[in-house]
Amino acid sequence: MNQPRPRAVGIDLGTTFSAVACLDDLGRPQTLNNGEGDKLTPSVVFFEESEIVVGKEAVKAISTAAAQVAECAKRDLGNRMYEKVLGGRQYPPEALEAWVLNKLRIDAEHQIGAFDKVVITVPAYFDEVRRKATQDAGYMAGFDVMDIINEPTAAAIAFGFQQGGEHAIAAADGMCRILVYDLGGGTFDVTVMEISRDQFVTLATDGDVRLGGRDWDQRLVDYVAEEFIRRCGVDPREDPNTEGRLWRECEDTKRTLSARSKANVACDYKGQAVRLEITRQMFEEMTRDLLDRTAFTTRQTLQAAGLQWSDIDRVLLVGGSTRMPAVCEMLQSITGKELDRSVSPDEAVAHGAAIHAGLLLERHHGQAPRVTIKNVNSHSLGVVARDSATQRQRNAILIPRNTSLPVAAKRIFKTHKASQKSILVQIVEGESASPDDCSQIGKCSVRELPPGLPADTPIEVGFRYAENGRLTVTVSCAGKELCHEIQRDNSLTQEQLASWRQYISGR
Ligand code: ADP
Ligand code: MG
Repeated sequence: MNQPRPRAVGIDLGTTFSAVACLDDLGRPQTLNNGEGDKLTPSVVFFEESEIVVGKEAVKAISTAAAQVAECAKRDLGNRMYEKVLGGRQYPPEALEAWVLNKLRIDAEHQIGAFDKVVITVPAYFDEVRRKATQDAGYMAGFDVMDIINEPTAAAIAFGFQQGGEHAIAAADGMCRILVYDLGGGTFDVTVMEISRDQFVTLATDGDVRLGGRDWDQRLVDYVAEEFIRRCGVDPREDPNTEGRLWRECEDTKRTLSARSKANVACDYKGQAVRLEITRQMFEEMTRDLLDRTAFTTRQTLQAAGLQWSDIDRVLLVGGSTRMPAVCEMLQSITGKELDRSVSPDEAVAHGAAIHAGLLLERHHGQAPRVTIKNVNSHSLGVVARDSATQRQRNAILIPRNTSLPVAAKRIFKTHKASQKSILVQIVEGESASPDDCSQIGKCSVRELPPGLPADTPIEVGFRYAENGRLTVTVSCAGKELCHEIQRDNSLTQEQLASWRQYISGR
């Protein structure tokens, strides 16, 4: 019997908002509405007494039960636990992300029927640990995560698709160089890519996992709170629910200021009320340094790609925060170019993920790949070594950042003493010479070295980044592969993952 082909589904799991898209019968990406009828679902989880609520309703709870609301869990991926205690316990951030994904899955299934194969997007700047955590979140939500894909790459694919592939995007030489500037709610990503009909090649990428619209909101919150203190003598931020309500007001004011030159924001606390008029100019002044940080990173990324502005054909805007007029003015002035607004800043990433899912399904069914995607690693990969002169630990970089993927590297370690039983390799990602300032991927331990090895026996450790930035490690001695494992500091074990999957998704 002919099995129907699974639907190609892509998920943009955003720090503040998430979206799901799937390919229609003609292969065009369509955003699916959630149960509330919206295209975007707030990535917010509310731990009500008897129920876990995700999305818009959870956002409302920020004004009344802020202590039980988890938001921006994506910023904490890679940590063992989400920063806040919720309903008396702490959760791993990937479990909170799994609840968000689970809601997206259930709502999508109402429209397209049951499915489990998906592609999930990650910021290009995510390190390996956060990439794994995202895949784990997908698993816990009941999915079979076929792949993760970088958000700017997904946006570029959606852009290429929309331009009609072969005809319009390419310059005379068949190649188009684009800069993707993605400013969302919680993260900032900038990526330089070379795209053609069938190739999406990342040249350089950089970003900040802790910079986004939320920081713009916070400036407004702080401004209003300071003004409240000046007039009324109390700080409305001391009560989490008032602070939550104030944040929702300020986020709304910020959106209004993208369309109008002034807006009002009100704050009441302990029987006193303050109403302030904020002009766009005031708002832009209080957030100038945040915008400057993105400008700095943008210039640096162009430089890392070895290019100049005249080499860039298009500047693509992605992420809700690019609706702020100041963002466009800044980009126009540093690039000297018209900006491309042809893709929807909210949907492009999910659309690109759905297209990638479609291509993967085709490949599973034996069709030749139509598109190749080439990424770079966003962080240098290193191992912790001891400096023989100073005896200090240092990060010995094996694969520098912005290297084209997939890539492999190896390093020879030597046993210290005769009949050594095990070796331990500590793996880090980051640019700093000090391992403490890097992201800890974990330790690779080889416990069963062949017996009776003399001292100074070479043990070869190989590292390989796949196209999607995930790492695998191999260890061999005298050409024979040895058993090993990466012991990850901040990841859940396979048993924990399975039990979370059962608990969250019932699958
Ligand atoms: P993420 O992918 O990080 O979750 P999104 O790309 O969905 O983020 O963007 C969400 C951010 O965009 C939020 O901080 C939101 O306040 C902001 N945003 C959305 N619309 C506007 C607007 N009209 N003006 C300013 N900011 C906006
Ligand atoms: Mg986003």
